[in-house]
Amino acid sequence: GAKDRGKNGYYFFSEDMKHASNSKMEIDTNLRKSLINGELCLYYQPKIDIAQNKIIGTETLLRWFKNGKIYKAPSEFIPIAESTGFILEIDRWVLLSACRQIEEWEKNNIKGQKISVNISGLHFKQGLIIKTVTEVLKKVKIPKDSIEIEITEGVFMENMEEAVGILNQLRSMGIGISIDDFGTGYSSLSYIKNLPINRIKIDKSFIFNMIDSKKDTAIAKTVITMAKLLDLYVIAEGVETSEQLKILSENGCNEIQGFYFSKPLSPEEYEKFFKKWA
Ligand code: C2E
Ligand code: MG
Ligand code: MG
Ligand code: MG
Repeated sequence: GAKDRGKNGYYFFSEDMKHASNSKMEIDTNLRKSLINGELCLYYQPKIDIAQNKIIGTETLLRWFKNGKIYKAPSEFIPIAESTGFILEIDRWVLLSACRQIEEWEKNNIKGQKISVNISGLHFKQGLIIKTVTEVLKKVKIPKDSIEIEITEGVFMENMEEAVGILNQLRSMGIGISIDDFGTGYSSLSYIKNLPINRIKIDKSFIFNMIDSKKDTAIAKTVITMAKLLDLYVIAEGVETSEQLKILSENGCNEIQGFYFSKPLSPEEYEKFFKKWA
């Protein structure tokens, strides 16, 4: 700790912090440039309904490229963009780009796709989500119900009444709502009862350990049962193996997303995947 460094410990500590905040600032500045330069793009990971043997749609995932190579993973830059507020601009860009992609796919006979977009909790907390969605939807012409927003549980904790109001407005605009990383937040179950949501996404941490951990399997099964009883769709993310797929399917979870079927794909790769499937 700082104490071990003797009387200069304090000094070292603040130097470290300066360094950390510099690199955070650097990443933020860099990210802003990359958005303008077209170095950010969206990848699409297929979601499969195994009972119908059908692609239901995709999740959009942000990718940061430099010189044709992945530069940093979302886990390295999304939290920074959230702390600086730049995520609001990223979210707007992601939503608009996903809608434009739907328009293009509809023209290319890739129809009826449900695309989900991750939206930062900050967008809700700042009360900007309705404005963003309204502005984006004015610019595009997409089938109703083709967009779904993925948000994590924590977003609703602060003001339940307000959250219900916002989500109802989004639903009336044709936007679906999916709870991402379900089971990893600290929220109570009562919010699921009160919020107008469509889908629950079982967090991949439960799926990863299903084979070795009876507890994780029990949690996954319980979430599936609960979702069905509440008339919600339920999807499992992070499905990598046929064993995981088997357990999920035996327990009535038909919507699957994960490397077992496909990694996130570029739009061109996704078109190929779609056409091969059909
Ligand atoms: P998430 O929304 O929970 O996305 C799922 C993550 O799991 C993605 O990581 C995806 O590539 C990964 N994944 C999917 N299937 C598998 C699998 O079978 N095995 C393994 N090991 N991983 C799998 P990714 O793309 O690195 O994104 C990480 C997180 O960053 C996302 O978690 C989301 O919270 C955030 N994120 C990504 N794109 C965006 C975006 O456009 N906007 C915002 N606000 N957040 C984003
Ligand atoms: Mg997600
Ligand atoms: Mg997730
Ligand atoms: Mg997540």
